[in-house]
Amino acid sequence: MASPTPPTHALPPGVTVFERGWLSSNNVLLVDGERAALVDTGYCTHAEQTLALVAKALPDRPLDLVLNTHLHSDHCGGNAALQSHYPELVTAIPPGSAQAVADWDEDKLGYRALGQSMVSYIFHKVLHPGSTERLAGLTWEIHAAPGHDPHAVLLFEPASRTLISGDALWQNGFGVVFPELEGEIGYAEVSDTLDLIEHLRPTTVIPGHGAVFAGVPQALAVARQRLEGFVAQPERHTRHAAKVLLKYKLLELGRTTPDALLAWACATPMLTLLHRQSAAPATTHSAADFAAWVDGVVADLVRAGAAVHTETEIFNA
Ligand SMILES: [Zn+2]
Repeated sequence: MASPTPPTHALPPGVTVFERGWLSSNNVLLVDGERAALVDTGYCTHAEQTLALVAKALPDRPLDLVLNTHLHSDHCGGNAALQSHYPELVTAIPPGSAQAVADWDEDKLGYRALGQSMVSYIFHKVLHPGSTERLAGLTWEIHAAPGHDPHAVLLFEPASRTLISGDALWQNGFGVVFPELEGEIGYAEVSDTLDLIEHLRPTTVIPGHGAVFAGVPQALAVARQRLEGFVAQPERHTRHAAKVLLKYKLLELGRTTPDALLAWACATPMLTLLHRQSAAPATTHSAADFAAWVDGVVADLVRAGAAVHTETEIFNA
C-alpha cells in the first residue's frame, strides 16, 4: 500500500510514485539537482506514513516544494505535517482555492460538508493554469482540470508525454463529480477536461489513485462511457457518491458501530443532501427515513464486498 510503484511504465528520471490507495492519494516525488518536490500528500491520518516515505526517499536533503492537484482531504492531508517537518518548504495550490485556504474556511473547502478530517496548513504560491513548473529537470505545464473539483489542475510534461492527472482521469474512471451534487455544472467540465487530456496525448498517466498506466485512449473511452451513464441517470451518480463517502469514512475508521456511523452520517451535510436527492418526492425526510437510506447504502457496500456488517459492527473490507 505504501511502497514505490514498480516501474511498469517508463517514468522520466527523477520521478518516483508512491502508490498509496484510496484514503490517501498517490504522491509523486520529483527530484533534480535544484530541488525536491512532492505532488499531493495523502490523508491526514496517514501523515506519518507520508513523512516516512519522503524521508526514506530523501535521506540527505529536505523536501523543498509541495504542489497539490486539488485540495480534497486525500490529496493535501499531509501538507501540515510536511510543513512542520521541513520549515523551508514552499507549498503551491490551485488558485481557485487560495482565498479559502488563506481564511482557513472549512465550509468553503468542503471538509465539513463531507465529514472528513483535515489539519490546517498554509500556502506560499498558486499554480496558475498556463504557467510552468521546473520539476525533475523537466518543464511541466499546469492546466486547469475542472469537473471532479472545479479548481483542480493537472501537470503535463510534453517531452516525455507524462501526465499527473489527480482525480480527473484514472485508469477506470474519475472522481465523484462534486459540483453536480451541489447543483453546479460538473459533467460538462469533466467532458471538457477529458477532451483536454486527449488533446495533450499523454503516453503515461500518473493518476491520483491506482497504478501508473499507459493506454490512455482506452482510459478516456472508459471515462466517457462512465460520464454518459451519469448524465443519462444522475441518480446513479448520487448513489455512487453516497457509497464513496461512506466507504471513505470506513477506510479512515477501519471499524465502527452502526450507531456511530449513523451519527457521523447525520452530521455530514453532503449525505443529507444526497438523501434528499435520492428520496421520492412524497418522502418526509424523517430521521428514520434517513437511517433506512444509510442502511441501504451500507448494504450496497456489503454486497460489493467493500464492507462487512455484523450484528454490532461495520468494518472496512
Ligand atoms: Zn479529489
